[in-house]
Amino acid sequence: MSSFDLNKIVRPNVLAMEPYSCARDEFEGEAAIFLDANENSLGSLAGDGYNRYPDPRQTPLRLKVAKIKGVLPEQVFFGNGSDEPIDLLFRAFCRPTIDRAIINPPTYGMYKVQAAINETPIDEILLTPDFQLQTDKILAAITPDTKLIFICSPNNPSGNLMQKADIVKIIENFNGIVVVDEAYIDFAETESFTKAIEKYPNLIVLQTFSKAWGMAALRCGMAFAQKDIIDVLLKIKYPYNINILTQETVFKALDRESDKNLMVKEILQNRKELIEQLNACKCVECTYPTNANFVLTKVSDAPAIYRYLTNCGIVVRSRHNVALCNNGLRITIGTKEENKSLINALNNFCK
Ligand SMILES: *Cc1c(COP(=O)(O)O)cnc(C)c1O
Repeated sequence: MSSFDLNKIVRPNVLAMEPYSCARDEFEGEAAIFLDANENSLGSLAGDGYNRYPDPRQTPLRLKVAKIKGVLPEQVFFGNGSDEPIDLLFRAFCRPTIDRAIINPPTYGMYKVQAAINETPIDEILLTPDFQLQTDKILAAITPDTKLIFICSPNNPSGNLMQKADIVKIIENFNGIVVVDEAYIDFAETESFTKAIEKYPNLIVLQTFSKAWGMAALRCGMAFAQKDIIDVLLKIKYPYNINILTQETVFKALDRESDKNLMVKEILQNRKELIEQLNACKCVECTYPTNANFVLTKVSDAPAIYRYLTNCGIVVRSRHNVALCNNGLRITIGTKEENKSLINALNNFCK
């Protein structure tokens, strides 16, 4: 990895630009009277304090998350969901129509969408039939213009973890940025790649408060990397990308990590039971191994079963038209009652 040089892969315009300097950024120190940001000095109709712009650096939240995750505060970035850093990575590193990214289908759909918006050509290296990385093919697909490789682990929609040795091999043999998307890491009994950012200057790990933490509506995602990569994202983000309600609400919820762990435990128990019941259904061919809060299920006739379930008021995600997922339904682990309703409906369909 000796030849990784961040300044060589950042887009030249991003490297050269001056970031927007907001009022609260320029002032450092104590003050009682703020006449610098054209806010409403009289107050807010929404509640105390909401007339002021929020902290653009999210400092209290950053310190707390860094401590919980065992990284330094300057190695943490917050986005409006983890979808924001995905977009920012394209904007920071990929010159439109020139620089390329590698993805490994079937995988999370936003990589391709953000690439398309940013006019980034994509090279797709399919996963193996058991949804593992084709590491040598990925390395062979790298060109001098390849800037990003996206690895989703646990992978959406298959649910499984990628093999650690494969991820490490790609990180160690690529001079661009490797993105390890760990949206579902809380449901997996494995160490997060955040432990590896100290060692690898080209690694960025994405996590989110939307899944295990149960805060999807707040829109708060995290990225972890060495300071140099984080600084590039901070330079190009919207100044006030995380609103004050989200900053304060997430900050408070972080005190309840043990309750989050209890919910994860309950979901894993429900997952075990649901998988057993799914495998006993006549119209289920198999369920794939999962380390997430969903299970990819191969059924006899995905379009028909999807329609039947919809008519029963149950929405699952059809992945039937996705690579390697023929007749696949992706099913989120529900409450015990929800899972029971699903199993009843499936058994009605295939009796
Ligand atoms: C849900 C999901 C995300 C996005 O999460 P947000 O933080 O809500 O934007 C990212 N990656 C994967 C793989 C996901 O499934």
